[in-house]
Amino acid sequence: MFKIIAIILLAISTAGAGYFGWTQKKSVVAVSAQVEELTQKVEEADKKVEATEEELAASKDMLPPLMTKAQELEAVKAAFSTGTVLKDLEAVYAKEKKGLSPERQLGLAGVRLLTNGTKDPATVEAFQKALEMTDWKAQQKVICAAQNALAAAGQKIKVMSECAPEAEGAKSESKADAHAAPAGKADAKDAHGAPAGKDDKKGGKKDAHAPADAHAAVHWDYEGAMGPENWGKEFPTCGKGKSQAPLNIKGPFEKVRFSVAPDYKQGQLKILNNGHTIQVNVPNGSKIRIDGKPYDLLQFHFHRPSEEHIDGKPSAMVVHFVHKNAEGELAVLGVMLREGNENPGIKTLWTHAPKSEGPEVVPDGVMFNPANLLPREMDFFHYDGSLTTPPCTEKVKFFILKSQVNIAKEQVTDFPFKMNARPVQPANGRAIYTN
Ligand SMILES: [Zn+2]
Repeated sequence: MFKIIAIILLAISTAGAGYFGWTQKKSVVAVSAQVEELTQKVEEADKKVEATEEELAASKDMLPPLMTKAQELEAVKAAFSTGTVLKDLEAVYAKEKKGLSPERQLGLAGVRLLTNGTKDPATVEAFQKALEMTDWKAQQKVICAAQNALAAAGQKIKVMSECAPEAEGAKSESKADAHAAPAGKADAKDAHGAPAGKDDKKGGKKDAHAPADAHAAVHWDYEGAMGPENWGKEFPTCGKGKSQAPLNIKGPFEKVRFSVAPDYKQGQLKILNNGHTIQVNVPNGSKIRIDGKPYDLLQFHFHRPSEEHIDGKPSAMVVHFVHKNAEGELAVLGVMLREGNENPGIKTLWTHAPKSEGPEVVPDGVMFNPANLLPREMDFFHYDGSLTTPPCTEKVKFFILKSQVNIAKEQVTDFPFKMNARPVQPANGRAIYTN
C-alpha cells in the first residue's frame, strides 16, 4: 500500500509540495487564512508579472483549479501523516547519484513539511528556501505534474489546459523520468523532463544561478553546442535581451550619490555544487542596504574567471552575492578575486564544497559569515543587468566592488569548474555608474 503511494509520490512529490506551496505557502503561519492566501497569490502573481501579459493571464487561469486542489490537499496530508511515505521517498532519492534537482528538493522539502507538520521551524524554513529556488515556470510544472499524476491515479480532477500531456510533451525531449513513469502515462515525466518554457520572465524569485533551469531538460553549458552563444535558442532573453550581464566595465562613468552597506551575519554553512557553480545558501538575517533600501541575501556563488571585466580584463574569479528585496527585485553584489595570498574564508568553503553536482550539504556545526569575503572599501561600479545564466532574466541591479580580494592560485585551481563565466555582453547604451 505504501509502496504504491510512494510510487505515485515519486511523480507528484514535487507536486504535493508544489501545490502545497502554491496554496499553503502563507498559511503555514495561519492555517485558516486560505482565502486571504489566494488573494495574496493573485497579488504575487501580479507582481511576478513584470513579465508578459500572457503570463498574467495564465497565472489567473491557474487560480480556480488550485482552489479545488486546496480542498483535496487534506486527503493527501492524511497519507503523509505516518511518515512512511517520507521514508520511502528519502530512500529512493538517496540512491540518485546526480543529486536532486531544485524541483525535487522542493518536493522533498514539501513532503517533509507535510509529514513533520508546520511546527518545526527548520522544516518550514527549508521548504520556503526550496520554494524560492524554483521559479514561476517550475512551480507551474509541479502543479501540472501533480494534476496529471492524480488524474492517472484515478482521481477526478480537472487538469489545467497548460498541463495537457500532449501540449507539454510536444516540445519536450521526452526525457521520461524513471521514477515518475510508474504512476501513469500522463506524468511520464516530471517537472524536470519538461522544457524550461519559452517565457523566461519571472519576478526574480531566482538567484543568478537559475537553479530551476540548471537541471531542466533544456541543458545549458559554458561551452559546446549548449554554450552561451546558443542559450538564446532555448532562452530567448539570453539572445534578445538588451540589458544583459556581465559587462566590461569601462569609463566614462556617471556619478551616483548613494551607498551600498552590507550587514551580513554568521550562520550555519549550507553549500552545494549545482553543476554550474559552487553556491552557498544563506540563512535568513543577512542583508544589504542599497540607497537605504534593504535586500535580503539569499545565496552567493562563484565564477572562474570573473564574468565582469574591468577595462577589458577579467580577474581570477568573482563571487556574486545575490539579494532580493520585498518587491522581489534582485541585486547582485560582485566581489572580484585576484590571485594573491590565501583567502581563509575560501579555505573554509572549499573544504566543504562538493566536488561534483549534488544536493546541498550542511556540515555539522560549521558556521560561516559571508562578510569574510568582502573587502573593507565598498566603492562600486553599478549597472542594470540580468541573470548571467539562463533564463537571463533582466532587471537585476549589479554592484561590482572596486576593491578586490585575494585568493591563492591553488584555491583558484581547486575550484571544481575550470570555466563558468558568461562572456561580456553588449552595453547597448547602458550607463555605468560609480559612487
Ligand atoms: Zn553569478
